[in-house]
Amino acid sequence: MVDDWLSSALADYNQVSFDKRDSYSALIQMPGKLLVELLSWCFQSLPDEILVGMDVDPQRQVIPEVSELFLGAESRADMFAGQGYTIGEAKVVNRGNSMTVHHLPEEWTDEIFGADRGPRGGRFTHWLHTHPNCPAIPSSADAAAAQWTEGVDMILGVEFSPEWGAPWVEGVEGERRMVAGTKRSEPEQGGSWFRRRMARGNRPVLGKAVTGHSIHGIELIAFHRTGVGINVIFVDDDDLPYGWPFTTE
Ligand SMILES: [Zn+2]
Repeated sequence: MVDDWLSSALADYNQVSFDKRDSYSALIQMPGKLLVELLSWCFQSLPDEILVGMDVDPQRQVIPEVSELFLGAESRADMFAGQGYTIGEAKVVNRGNSMTVHHLPEEWTDEIFGADRGPRGGRFTHWLHTHPNCPAIPSSADAAAAQWTEGVDMILGVEFSPEWGAPWVEGVEGERRMVAGTKRSEPEQGGSWFRRRMARGNRPVLGKAVTGHSIHGIELIAFHRTGVGINVIFVDDDDLPYGWPFTTE
């Protein structure tokens, strides 16, 4: 179930996706319900990052009214596998740190790709990994891992407290897209660690995780292996974007 606070945050996110549509070449639809699951898996695996394999749902296509509105002037067809379809099934396939999360242990892949994925051990179309208490910006290890992705790579950054050995990492460069929460201001010059920590403690709580953590911010980006950003739209069960309808004024 998508709580009210989250569905209104997803509507805000989609509004930005809509406003920025001309800076993206393609879009991808993620169900709001899947984000709820991803957040739950993320918190249950702390302090590790998790790697999630995702397939598209062949029954769920981007509806024409949505693609008409959300595809920008620079949009391209046939850019990646699964383009034009909503993300369907998802499965946690690994956990680890920012380096090891991309390297699947062989015995795991046998199990995951053998039993559930047919004798061919089919690969997932899309991949997502989490950045607990770190902005959703690809590291060089992330960019390297994406080179074999047929669909798109996604990064889910979550800011939460208590931190549990994953303090928020400041000062990472790159394009950021907030699902909820505001961009953190630059750390105060000369501000002590304690003062920054106190400031963090006062950040608004957007919602509670299944594990009881307070969520302060959620970010999500998607990118193609060539490094091009892909526009994400969060949709409900009817493949309508949260916050629908959107207008061009
Ligand atoms: Zn990463």
